[in-house]
Amino acid sequence: MRDTITILGVPIDRVTRNQAGEITENLIKQSNKTCKMIFAPNVEFIMTAQKDKEFFEILKQSSLSTPDSVGVMIGAKLQKKYFPERIPGQSYFRKVIELANEKGYTIYLLGGKEGVAEITKKNLQQEFKNLNIVGVHQGYFNEEEEKEIIREINELQPNVLFVALGAPKQEKWIQKHKNELKVDVAAGQGGTFDYEAGIIKRAPVFIQKIGMEWLWRLCKQPSRIKRQIVLPLYLIKIVFKKDKTKGKFDEIENKGE
Ligand code: UDP
Repeated sequence: MRDTITILGVPIDRVTRNQAGEITENLIKQSNKTCKMIFAPNVEFIMTAQKDKEFFEILKQSSLSTPDSVGVMIGAKLQKKYFPERIPGQSYFRKVIELANEKGYTIYLLGGKEGVAEITKKNLQQEFKNLNIVGVHQGYFNEEEEKEIIREINELQPNVLFVALGAPKQEKWIQKHKNELKVDVAAGQGGTFDYEAGIIKRAPVFIQKIGMEWLWRLCKQPSRIKRQIVLPLYLIKIVFKKDKTKGKFDEIENKGE
């Protein structure tokens, strides 16, 4: 039975980083290549889902959704509910990589600009000596290339497919191809490969610890303002319970499990 907190209709699991790792392992063991979906919702996800019903439905079908951002923690607190800790996307990614290194799970990296997934693979395999990244592909492809990517993934049948195409593209891509992908789990991964490859630097640890990484990212990439401007509206919606999806989708069972 899952323990989730629902924020404006989007369910997010009340788990620690270690528990997220354990759940992922269980999914790998039980999935039998049925592509269980793992997401990391943040405020932008939740606000996009308020307008995009397809995305909203996809988020409700995850097998695990980790609390990615400070905004999600605040959203829960405003409802007097609490996540045990925040799990930034890259932190979850690293947990799964550690487990894969220990237990031999195989990994495929899909996404990022030309060469980024390749550098990520090289860096990780230098750090984790037993890690088996069986394939990588960059994230800008046409329909023809997409068929080839899916064919390759299905030939390799990795335990974990990390998809880093940005949200909501990556979640929609996973959902669209879920039935044909022969992987145990597929996880949406946003900009993680850019960090792992050293293309974008993460904020210093103390900035991460005080929950101000969003401000750091904003200073580095001012174009992100368009995405972060939704934060005040998000808080207002929660406080005044202006959840338009309430009632409409609340009774829909979470189909991910
Ligand atoms: N990306 C991609 N294909 C696309 C669009 C984006 O591979 O068609 C990659 C992009 O290169 C970047 C990532 O997706 O590495 C999105 O990163 P972003 O920081 O926007 O994601 P977030 O973590 O904010 O969801």
